Amino acid sequence: MSQAPSTGPIRLAAVIVAAGKGLRAGQPLPKQFALWRGKPVLRHAADRLVAAGAELLCVVIPEGADAHAHAILEGAGPVLLVTGGETRQDSVRAGLEALQQASPDLVLIHDAARPDCPPQVVERLVAALADNPGAIPVLPVVDSMVTAHADLMGDKAARETLRRVQTPQAFRYADILAAHQAWEGPSTAGDDAQVAHAAGLAVALVDGDERLRKLTFADDFGQGASMIRTGTGFDVHRLGEGEELWLCGVRIPHDKGLVGHSDADVALHAVVDAILGAAGEGDIGQHFPPSDPQWRAAPSSRFVEHAVSLAAAKGYAIGNVDLAIICEAPKIGPHRDAMRGELARLLGVQADCVNVKATTTERLGFTGRGEGIAAQAVATLIALS
Ligand code: MG
Repeated sequence: MSQAPSTGPIRLAAVIVAAGKGLRAGQPLPKQFALWRGKPVLRHAADRLVAAGAELLCVVIPEGADAHAHAILEGAGPVLLVTGGETRQDSVRAGLEALQQASPDLVLIHDAARPDCPPQVVERLVAALADNPGAIPVLPVVDSMVTAHADLMGDKAARETLRRVQTPQAFRYADILAAHQAWEGPSTAGDDAQVAHAAGLAVALVDGDERLRKLTFADDFGQGASMIRTGTGFDVHRLGEGEELWLCGVRIPHDKGLVGHSDADVALHAVVDAILGAAGEGDIGQHFPPSDPQWRAAPSSRFVEHAVSLAAAKGYAIGNVDLAIICEAPKIGPHRDAMRGELARLLGVQADCVNVKATTTERLGFTGRGEGIAAQAVATLIALS
């Protein structure tokens, strides 16, 4: 991890609170370390703050998460890692104290679980610090509000005076550090603005942004994750005498068959590679090495089932598969429905999620000469959450 730059004063630094909960073996990753739109949530937050002008980040992480955080933040810019405390309050204070040597003029305090920070929000916050020691982004409340007593409705609340508070919150560094160190309120201050307010610091309100919403696993997070992934597969097997011909798990009567380890079902092999590709799980040769005797005579349906279960273990179901079989002979048309049905069965999807096409190469090349059969597939996976 890069260290703080040793020369030049720092104007704007940021504390990112990613302390959430500890990393325990067998537990799912805390959401700030999970992938969202192709990158860990924390990395999004870090990149956005750096892009908005933060010259130094102090990331507050859970106990035991150093290696993880290092990997996630590699190349993000100057970063200090600090282990968090019992409460968010303790974590923020630890982060602010870790910046004492760098002593920035201004500091942003941000939740790692808000990955999308528009730079304009930071511009507004920093501008407001010219006249105030603190500034926070807020949004109006659009729904009508009531107070609640148990399950009974109480009085109408004055929506016009209410605001939703977001992060990053911005402060003059020395002021917010002193406010945190002096805080004697409850151990869980709602946010840093409350700590600042309690210390008598004026906190300006600037326009927030809906994109700053906090991700939760239950809904936003699942929708923000990569919902759809696509993979391609391609395979070729040689045609030889005295072999059975299997395509898509269907035995096809023909005077030749495909040669290869397992049953040489070139169509299923292309499909397996497409699924493995979409799942980010390498290729068929890595999972079913020809050198491993257990796969030598295995029906290729087992490879398909294994690929589907690998995808499922990563939280994905098969969306659809499109397969093209490239050969001069045999004719695929008479077997197309059987192939489609068998492939759908192996994948555990409806037949209309599977498409089987056939083409020739106009008698050109090895397929045109009838020396082999090629197959090409695309698979789409859909997030289960
Ligand atoms: Mg193959």
